[in-house]
Amino acid sequence: MRQSLWREVWILASLILIGWSLGALTGHPFLFPAIALLFYIALQLRQLYRLHQWLMSDKRAEPPDAAGPWGDVFNEVRKLVRAADRRAGELTDTLARFQSAAAAMPDAVVILTEEEEIEWANPPASILLGIDYPRDLGMRVANLLRDPDFADYLKRGDYADPVEIDSPANPESSVSLQIVPFGAQRKLVLARDNTRLHRLEQMRRSFIANVSHELRTPVTVLSGYIETMRDIEHIRPDDLKKHLATMHEQAARMQRLVDDLLMLSRLETAAPRQKEETVDVPALLAGLKEQAEVLSGDAGHRITLEVQPDLKLLGGRDELHSAFMNLIQNAVRYTPRGGAIGLRWISDADGARFSVSDTGDGIAPEHIPHLTERFYRVDTARSRASGGTGLGLSIVKHVLLRHHAHLDIQSQLGRGSTFTCVFPAMRVLHASNPRHQAGRG
Ligand code: ADP
Repeated sequence: MRQSLWREVWILASLILIGWSLGALTGHPFLFPAIALLFYIALQLRQLYRLHQWLMSDKRAEPPDAAGPWGDVFNEVRKLVRAADRRAGELTDTLARFQSAAAAMPDAVVILTEEEEIEWANPPASILLGIDYPRDLGMRVANLLRDPDFADYLKRGDYADPVEIDSPANPESSVSLQIVPFGAQRKLVLARDNTRLHRLEQMRRSFIANVSHELRTPVTVLSGYIETMRDIEHIRPDDLKKHLATMHEQAARMQRLVDDLLMLSRLETAAPRQKEETVDVPALLAGLKEQAEVLSGDAGHRITLEVQPDLKLLGGRDELHSAFMNLIQNAVRYTPRGGAIGLRWISDADGARFSVSDTGDGIAPEHIPHLTERFYRVDTARSRASGGTGLGLSIVKHVLLRHHAHLDIQSQLGRGSTFTCVFPAMRVLHASNPRHQAGRG
């Protein structure tokens, strides 16, 4: 650049010198230098015009050819333009990457301007918050999310914790929403679907309420009897016996509830079994049938057992005993005197099935999907009166889950019910199929 500048100075000086010489010869010493100067200025203006035209046009085109300092200027400007282009390209790529990452997030992301207007939102924002980008571009977020808790949160300005709101797009869903301030007064709204956690929390609360409710009656009865007996000086032996029998009944009820709760908690928290036992189901059922007859007592149920003698199962003996006993106990409880109860253990193409059929009262279809929920009963008074805790079928469900099996319930009001535990083939052992047994043993 320096060199070409010197060259330019020489050209200008030469032009003036030639003009002055011509002027001296013709008697106009200033006219020719002035013409030479004007000619030089015109040349420079032309180059300036070309630079301007090039800058105004697509700058990716090559700059015009020029010699001297103008060539250097064109080159330098071209380098600057290319560097700026590169930086803009990199920024665009980064922005595109950020946008596609934010768009792919399962959580809702909304960017707000300083005026709390929507600048950008990803697709989940439409599902979770009902904010649709670009439709809602420029809208104030407070006008779109009209939840009073959100309005308070937005106003408060303390965004350390998230706020829980019902999803405006789906009233069934609950959303945990947090504002993250960034840059100069701008805000990022992050929201995630909290429905599952919310439901779990509701289940936990209703579980505690149910357990307290179940325990309150026996505890109240027991403490009432204890107080009465403490205040009476001389109690008749007959009365004492009666009182003790009632107290025993209530204590047994609490015991059953606590046992069932512990069983459920063990089933839920226990790790999968490391080593499966080979459970001799026919022998197990023979024992359970005898217990069912004792339970039935003078109700005189006709209890039958049909088994495939060689059919065994891989699993946990105690857990299966508990699940099968719960089903049998229910059949005895909910089948009127003299009714029939059938126990069946057979294999089929898909595996094996244990079913308990009864000719009891049956269950209305709307109750069936809820029967395995904790404390769900069709008739609470009847269940309690017959010693039920409302946890039996829940225990059955969890035991079956741990055996990759499921419970099938068929029932008709007034005709009876069949509860079937369906086990997959991978758990079934036939005497005729020792290879299978060896494989899992
Ligand atoms: P519970 O201790 O009350 O028997 P379960 O969880 O075992 O609790 O059963 C839940 C409810 O399902 C019972 O309260 C009862 O209403 C209904 N139920 C279960 N088994 C039968 C059956 N064999 N016949 C009719 N109803 C049944």
